[in-house]
Amino acid sequence: MTTSELPAPGTTDRTTVRRLAEKTINDRGTGYSILDAGFVAHVSVVDESGQPYVVPVGYARDGDRVLFHGSTGSRLFRGLADGQSTCLTVTLLDGMVLARSTFESSMQYRGVMALGSCSVLEGADKDRALELITEHLLPGRWAEARHPSQKERAATLVLALNLDEISVKVSDGPPEDEDEDVSRPIWAGVVPLRESFGDPVDAPDLVEPFPVPAYVKAWRRPAPA
Ligand SMILES: Cc1cc2nc3c(=O)[nH]c(=O)nc-3n(C[C@H](O)[C@H](O)[C@H](O)COP(=O)(O)OP(=O)(O)OC[C@H]3O[C@@H](n4cnc5c(N)ncnc54)[C@H](O)[C@@H]3O)c2cc1C
Repeated sequence: MTTSELPAPGTTDRTTVRRLAEKTINDRGTGYSILDAGFVAHVSVVDESGQPYVVPVGYARDGDRVLFHGSTGSRLFRGLADGQSTCLTVTLLDGMVLARSTFESSMQYRGVMALGSCSVLEGADKDRALELITEHLLPGRWAEARHPSQKERAATLVLALNLDEISVKVSDGPPEDEDEDVSRPIWAGVVPLRESFGDPVDAPDLVEPFPVPAYVKAWRRPAPA
């Protein structure tokens, strides 16, 4: 199926946003831009005893699927590899919303939720996925770092979750206080939250003094004060 043939976000029965439905975004491009901006996804899995877990993973988007990896020895990842139904979320936190009441106080965010089950990638697809995950998290690193050995590859389970059924929810407005609260002498507004990269720190066991590579310096710098 091509991207345009997939259902728009939030349009299947189980992805229709019901609570604060005005925050739903039915545009797949917005959802993909959120996935491309994030580093960590949370993936659900239920073990043999019925205990649910939510596992944080690094990931990359590859077209209409999300790729992530884990250990072949992980019982939770094996559940996903066996095709268990899962839910994956990515959330970007953009600000704290301070309303006059605690009830209306909230957060600004952009989030994607994907439902489905994973497939296990093998061969060239697995190798490409490992490169894509590295390049999404550490752009430029694949060309320089040592690639996985056969043993490391064998110990790594690479999973893909198709983005067939997703929802996108974005909260970006000011506080929405009740009319009777607006006149209260209480400050209200939004405190933005921004992700920032600090200055690189040399590993203590560098065998010689290396300059920090240009591609690492190019990663997002701290926002100016
Ligand atoms: C940073 C952050 C903090 C939040 N804090 C709270 C909180 O403290 N209390 C609270 O009640 N809610 C909070 N939310 C909202 C919460 O994620 C749910 O959207 C909300 O609780 C509604 O849940 P529901 O099951 O009633 O949704 P419904 O609208 O019934 O869910 C229907 C469908 O909408 C989609 N959907 C629901 N939520 C999201 C989402 N966040 N992103 C993408 N798709 C979604 C799913 O596909 C779901 O199956 C927070 C969200 C974020 C991102």
